[in-house]
Amino acid sequence: MPREIYAYKCRKCGHVHYPYRMVCKNCGKNEHNEFEPVPLPKVGSLLTFTTLYSLPPDFEVPSLGLAIVALDGGITVTGQHRIDEPEIGMAVRAEVEVVRRDGYDEHYGMVFYRK
Ligand SMILES: [Zn+2]
Repeated sequence: MPREIYAYKCRKCGHVHYPYRMVCKNCGKNEHNEFEPVPLPKVGSLLTFTTLYSLPPDFEVPSLGLAIVALDGGITVTGQHRIDEPEIGMAVRAEVEVVRRDGYDEHYGMVFYRK
């Protein structure tokens, strides 16, 4: 079963937030815990990207591609990318994968690929 990252849908007005918020930024009337978790879409378009070469020592890779992606449905997220020649505006798809290991802990995030 594929892993998911969840956004939070306001039960009063339907606005979707990511990351989580205590109060709906659309209607402002939602109280704590009145959000429904909904999986983030896994397709979108590449807004911008960069490559990091100065990484903390626990990243066991020589460089890391970072992307900011406009997901279908209007939410913008940051993630890693594994695309050889990225282009702004290109269609991308996401997988939820381990993006960092910290001792025995594994941290998951979105990794983008060419669609
Ligand atoms: Zn709302």
